[in-house]
Amino acid sequence: MTETAKPMIECRDVQKHYGEYHALRGIDLTIRAGEFFSLLGPSGCGKTTLLRTIAGFEDISSGVVLIDGQDMEDVPANRRPTNMVFQSYAIFPHLTVAQNVAFGLRRDPRSRAEKSALVDEALAMVGLKGFGNRAAHALSGGQRQRVALARALILKPKVLLLDEPLSALDRKMREQMQVELIKLQRQVGITFVLVTHDQEEALVMSDRIAVMFDGQIAQLDGPEALYARPVTRRVADFIGVMNFLPAHILGEKDGVTTVEVPGLGVVELPAHQISRADPEDTGPMIGFRPETMTLVGPGQNHTQPRESRAIIDEVVYYGDMTYYDLRLDGAAAMNGKAQPVRISMRNVFGRDVQEVGTRTRLAWSPGSLVLF
Ligand code: ATP
Repeated sequence: MTETAKPMIECRDVQKHYGEYHALRGIDLTIRAGEFFSLLGPSGCGKTTLLRTIAGFEDISSGVVLIDGQDMEDVPANRRPTNMVFQSYAIFPHLTVAQNVAFGLRRDPRSRAEKSALVDEALAMVGLKGFGNRAAHALSGGQRQRVALARALILKPKVLLLDEPLSALDRKMREQMQVELIKLQRQVGITFVLVTHDQEEALVMSDRIAVMFDGQIAQLDGPEALYARPVTRRVADFIGVMNFLPAHILGEKDGVTTVEVPGLGVVELPAHQISRADPEDTGPMIGFRPETMTLVGPGQNHTQPRESRAIIDEVVYYGDMTYYDLRLDGAAAMNGKAQPVRISMRNVFGRDVQEVGTRTRLAWSPGSLVLF
């Protein structure tokens, strides 16, 4: 997938009303051919509705949906070059694996032998070669998911729509299937559009992600940009962990904003470290991710330009990582308590985890801060 790939799905000012309820509020979106694209947002934000309008299961109230350059207005779901994999994956337990996959060909005029070859090819694609005669009810969750994928891919749609396809699987299987889905998508080169409320899943799998709130797209970006440069506080809060500290703006000159942050001191921030204003913002805040600051042990040196002092309030040990909740010296109080910040440190063999109550130093760089 390249930046110049042709558009596969275009939504222009798509609106959807369910009676009084305004579920999609002007969606403008281009998904490129061959892209692994995710619609990410909390429950009720409209991501499933958007997926279903692309599939043709829902009519739109106004706007335009184009697939591969063609206006979909009068094209019913079964005539669109799309196929859908559902959360419940709707496998027929009383049929064999091959019969389940062949269900994707029920309207296809090809001969039995040709269909059988297509089923074998689809099963091989999802790593289920030789499973054709197995009873579907005897499969594991992950295998059922693969059967559903094979069935959806058998006619090689231009677009595969996936509605929370992994949410029924346990964590380990889900992580394994995420990697397999990425590989499969690269191998078949079909445009995948995934709906998920799981930000980690979206970050792991997608070329680009549209974050949705209240029927609108709040940010559309690649995973790294989304994580490092969220455009609003709400996006920042939804993707991973972001610390927020109240800030005072001291002034702006030549595109550089000077900010005072109790606990961190005075910092100068260039324009690319300043987020977009959001009507929900309550006042300027500085945000930073837990892994961008480092705890410095007694007698240790560091190469960061800035250092702050803090006391450790909480330590959560995860084996490979430790999370520390800290109170910065001089941090502004909110509701009578100093605003806590969370720092994550990768555990290194031979370096002690610091204890609750320890006075400690925190090394950081102004380059990791975002002003919201
Ligand atoms: P979830 O992850 O919970 O499925 P979502 O982001 O996919 O959430 P949608 O299913 O798209 O959300 O629903 C968006 C909003 O539209 C919700 O408030 C929902 O109640 C409403 N909605 C969806 N389908 C209908 C319908 N058929 N009739 C009325 N309201 C609907």
